[in-house]
Amino acid sequence: MSALVPLSTVTFHDGQKLHADLPRNTLDPRYPLCTNHRFACLCREAETAEDRQEWRAELEHARKVFAEVLAGHPTYTDDGRNQCLCTGCQVARATYGQFRSYSDIRRERKAAARRQQERDVEIDRLHGEITKLRARLRGRSGEASIDILRDAVQTEGGNWTVHRASHALPGRWIAPERLRTLLNQLADEGLLIKHGKLGRLWTPVGGGDA
Ligand SMILES: [Zn+2]
Ligand SMILES: [Zn+2]
Repeated sequence: MSALVPLSTVTFHDGQKLHADLPRNTLDPRYPLCTNHRFACLCREAETAEDRQEWRAELEHARKVFAEVLAGHPTYTDDGRNQCLCTGCQVARATYGQFRSYSDIRRERKAAARRQQERDVEIDRLHGEITKLRARLRGRSGEASIDILRDAVQTEGGNWTVHRASHALPGRWIAPERLRTLLNQLADEGLLIKHGKLGRLWTPVGGGDA
């Protein structure tokens, strides 16, 4: 690539730009031919450009290794307490976060939280599917809604919402407020725990969601 480097743009501290076809590394044919030595002559340009690329690649590699080996370690915490004391995390802190920074940890945590949330959503969806399937198999039209719902809560596991409760009672139109009342009744019976004032989520007692 060295001989074919495209015209590059150099930006100076005051914003001035200069276009120059400078050698990027010591493989550039101009490197060995340079005899007119001075500051920033072609051979010096080639060497510094090469060094820069190598340092950058080494730093990137080190960061990748730190991220892989220390994935999930609380290398830094918000209040600075309960930080991981393993050798890797100590090295990461002692090198001022050059290899593993506070923002790396935050990014890692956000990604983990996102994955957990996706899993929770999927689990809720699957529990809803189970409810639908069981309800389709049951078809107990004469039975009271509360008895059918109680049976579903006791056998199916997972979190309950008004939406899911409606699936447990197919073929019956029941107003959301009524479904909420039924779920609250099961909470009163000690089968569910009601969350939030508005009543949007009920979890089984014993944290049965797995
Ligand atoms: Zn030179
Ligand atoms: Zn650690």
